[in-house]
Amino acid sequence: MDGGIDSRRKRVLDELYRGFRTVAHGGYLYLCDMKYDYSRWSVEAVQDFGLPGNYMVRAGEIWEQCIHPDDREGYHQSIEDIFAGRDRGHDMQYRVKNTAGRYVVCTCRGTVLWDEQGQPDYFVGSIHNHGQENNVDPLTGFQNQYGLFETLKMLYAKKQPANIMMLGVGHFSTINEMWGYDFGNIVIHKLVQLLKKTFRNEGMLYRLDGVRFVLLTRTLSLDELARRYEALYQDISLRLEVDGYRPNLEICGSALEIEDFDIDPQTMFSCLTYAYVSSREKGNGSFRIFHRELDADRNNLLVLVNAVRKSIENNCAGFVLYYQPIVEAATGRLCGSEALLRWENPEFGLVPPNRFIPIIENDPAFVHLGEWILRKAMEDTKPFLAVFPDFELNVNISYDQIKQDNFVQLVRRNLDAAGFPARNLCLEITERCRLLDMERLAAIVSELQSIGVRFAIDDFGTGYSSMSILNSMKFDVVKIDKSFVDGVAAGGRELRLVKVMHDMAGLYGARVCAEGVETKEQCDILRECGIDCIQGYYFSRPVEVETFRERFVKQA
Ligand code: C2E
Ligand code: CA
Ligand code: CA
Repeated sequence: MDGGIDSRRKRVLDELYRGFRTVAHGGYLYLCDMKYDYSRWSVEAVQDFGLPGNYMVRAGEIWEQCIHPDDREGYHQSIEDIFAGRDRGHDMQYRVKNTAGRYVVCTCRGTVLWDEQGQPDYFVGSIHNHGQENNVDPLTGFQNQYGLFETLKMLYAKKQPANIMMLGVGHFSTINEMWGYDFGNIVIHKLVQLLKKTFRNEGMLYRLDGVRFVLLTRTLSLDELARRYEALYQDISLRLEVDGYRPNLEICGSALEIEDFDIDPQTMFSCLTYAYVSSREKGNGSFRIFHRELDADRNNLLVLVNAVRKSIENNCAGFVLYYQPIVEAATGRLCGSEALLRWENPEFGLVPPNRFIPIIENDPAFVHLGEWILRKAMEDTKPFLAVFPDFELNVNISYDQIKQDNFVQLVRRNLDAAGFPARNLCLEITERCRLLDMERLAAIVSELQSIGVRFAIDDFGTGYSSMSILNSMKFDVVKIDKSFVDGVAAGGRELRLVKVMHDMAGLYGARVCAEGVETKEQCDILRECGIDCIQGYYFSRPVEVETFRERFVKQA
């Protein structure tokens, strides 16, 4: 039972074990005398995984039997490499069955100590049990987003720099729809095997919702990540086959460097996700490294986004709403205004929304900001209703807000709290909302319309599905995007398109508002086309509420 180990070697093993035990921080400890393949494991490991004892001969083989069959191959290969002297250690994750018969995720880090002749002598390492099954994705055995955030928080607490990469397949639902779920699961399984192989010993892998993975690595540089991504991209898009079929997979990826510990992990994650989404939208597998992105003023975007998030957490201090008038095309009479968000900060100045909204839209904090915008816009403009009973307040609603389960209740609650009549509120949504199930979106729209709230479709004509969204639900207003208005004076295609859009909106019983009107000439042409309302610098830029009141409400 002792593999023939002599008493001197056994004493050394025990002494070394005692030494490592004293300095190790948590985790299970194992120490193997490689000459005899005789190991000592910590008693906690023996108890938690039902191992035969704390001294074991050929512990690697015993341990391998506890590992999930899908994860065994990688482990086996690694142990072989280590005993053959091809590898000096390992750093890997796998699932292990515990005494209760459930799989838990473990990270195992070990290193080989050599003797005077440079031959493998001892193998020492620790195993960290991440346990908590609710942090583990059952299909892949990777930890999920909760697990990722726990690790990120730990890195922050210890101020350990790392690189983080997000990689996945866009529009995977079409694979499931075309080929079936079983086929989809095999594709995911193959992807997972490829990821494990590519990043073995280089860090931890996580699975997020959909077919999206994260690698957290302390050994690979951003350039090296970009190289491995490229190789994976080639492997997956050109060579991945299931039953002789080659599915068309849209691979996308992004990366970011964790080095500035003043920046919140959630900010990091939002920026990484934003870069991932832009990789997906750009297509062709382009890899986006967020860390190197600067905003228009060459500020580090991460720092900006982090400061914006802090403002949200600080009761939205620093945010202001500007208002831009919307006027009746025929008479020039005020009919309402659009609330437009600004963020003011001593370091960054007055920051327009395009800089930060697209990045923090997917951040859980954005929901608070969205509600603040709605509440504040109603508070600011309610006094105008006494002068203009038909005043229409337009508020922009992003996809991430409307997809919240309680969106309808949220709007109703805020209308009630502000005492703002529902018929004076118009919510602007963009075609991006088509990402939501159309039936669900239509139900939200009609439920709120039934209490009087109006809906406008914003940036009309710029998306892929202007027609279909117009056909799926009833909009009160169609807002024609500035890019079309810009061209109307030249009289060419844009002018004809504006006329078509106007007729289309008419067909569905919607009013038409033209955005971004800058000149009298554009204004005249649009009026002739029968456009109902006009918004643009020609009348006024967005201004603060006080200025709006002075200029457009007082004189009435
Ligand atoms: P949008 O909803 O299309 O808003 C119209 C944008 O066009 C505003 O930019 C406005 O200042 C600008 N604009 C209006 N007239 C003219 C013009 O004649 N010429 C030019 N060049 N520009 C004009 P802004 O305020 O920078 O907002 C940009 C975008 O940020 C908005 O586009 C909207 O998508 C988003 N946004 C702004 N406020 C909010 C908000 O409260 N919530 C959400 N979810 N998004 C917002
Ligand atoms: Ca808008
Ligand atoms: Ca718009």
